[in-house]
Amino acid sequence: MLNALDYNIEEWQAILIEMGEPKFRAKQIVEWLSKGKDFHEMSNLPKMLTDKLSQIFEANSVKIHSCVVSKKDGTRKYIFSLSDGNIIEGVLMSYKYGNTICISTQVGCRMNCQFCASGLDGLIRNMTSGEMLGEIIAVNKDISEYGERCITNVVLMGSGEPLDNYDNVIKFLKLVNHDCGLNIGKRNISLSTCGICDKIYSLVEDMPGITLTISLHAPYDDLREQLMPVNKAYSIKDVMKAVRFYFKKTGRRIIFEYSMIAGVNDSIDCAEQLVRLVRGLPCHINIISLNYVEERAMHGSDKNRVQDFLEYLEDQEVSVTLRRTMGSDIEGACGQLRRSVMEGAKCESVVDQDFTQEYADAAKVECEQPSYEQESSQEQDSNQAQDSIQAQDSIQAQDSIEEQYASQDQDAIQKYNINNDDN
Ligand code: SAH
Repeated sequence: MLNALDYNIEEWQAILIEMGEPKFRAKQIVEWLSKGKDFHEMSNLPKMLTDKLSQIFEANSVKIHSCVVSKKDGTRKYIFSLSDGNIIEGVLMSYKYGNTICISTQVGCRMNCQFCASGLDGLIRNMTSGEMLGEIIAVNKDISEYGERCITNVVLMGSGEPLDNYDNVIKFLKLVNHDCGLNIGKRNISLSTCGICDKIYSLVEDMPGITLTISLHAPYDDLREQLMPVNKAYSIKDVMKAVRFYFKKTGRRIIFEYSMIAGVNDSIDCAEQLVRLVRGLPCHINIISLNYVEERAMHGSDKNRVQDFLEYLEDQEVSVTLRRTMGSDIEGACGQLRRSVMEGAKCESVVDQDFTQEYADAAKVECEQPSYEQESSQEQDSNQAQDSIQAQDSIQAQDSIEEQYASQDQDAIQKYNINNDDN
């Protein structure tokens, strides 16, 4: 069976013409599919056509295998099964401004970042655009049964490196943004990358306007190379040049992720180097203490270390947020849950497709009255809008940040252009 979500309007038109059907039905089909409907539910289409289509296509080849709900904050981690039996994961977080999903873009990952669970088995395969879309549509359908709001924000921050699956990711971004589809605005989409620079330049051409997040994790090459092998191909200088270009062309503030690893990248010296690196670039840094992954012998920095690091950055007037850890009781780190499912490990809190109202309510309470006890004082006022969350299984409220800083950005763009005319 083919995955119906893999096709855009133009491709559906071609399919329909081939079948001797009018091409206006393409829009109807895409609209129904985006609502999570099966062919037999497409009430404005002739039954003969839907019967034919359902013999060839599956409305969504991504199925919810199970859902783990955090008792702490209602964050829901979904395990999806793909048609070839592979397993991937996605995370849904509720905020007062909407629901955000963090999706996977590859089964496994070949980047092999030394702290990450996703790369432990290497890359298994790329996901198709329709499979990425299918994650969102399946979750939308699931939560709608409980009266929850639809997903409003998407982050490509689950398993996989989005820019290593470039064509499928671009097609997905266009599908998810399309007004006949889920119609999620570019400002509500965020793509996180370890820094595949040539693809950052391509992104400016192919999908400008989404928020670009860089997983930095180290402020100098020697250390970054040890942590992230990709740094051997693209140095920090390459990454900084590419993000400056991205900012200059799109006006979008760059987000950096910095996971603090005890005794590795958490010294004040690292903080100093980090400040020097980002000085002058309109950006925001998210710091978080590393999530422990059993197979990776690294630990997150302790609270005091994180606080000192944060205060140093604040004193230097760097825009920074210490992320709240969400869903820490449900195997937070990238790729962890998928691995435990694959290994058949028992996870007590797995609730098979069972999103209870109790947890939905808990999620709403959390999002209406967020606790910011760990967050920087400088950010507290803006955090109700910003809200910050954990990296790999959660995301930044990019849209809120962007709105808040939109006018500042305009000034910054002008200044920046004046100072960087050679770029
Ligand atoms: N490949 C992309 C997106 C997937 S990982 C990227 O590198 O950005 C999403 C984020 O989680 C990245 O910032 C990644 O570095 C971070 N991450 C992975 N494992 C982690 C862990 N154990 N603790 C904290 N952050 C982690």
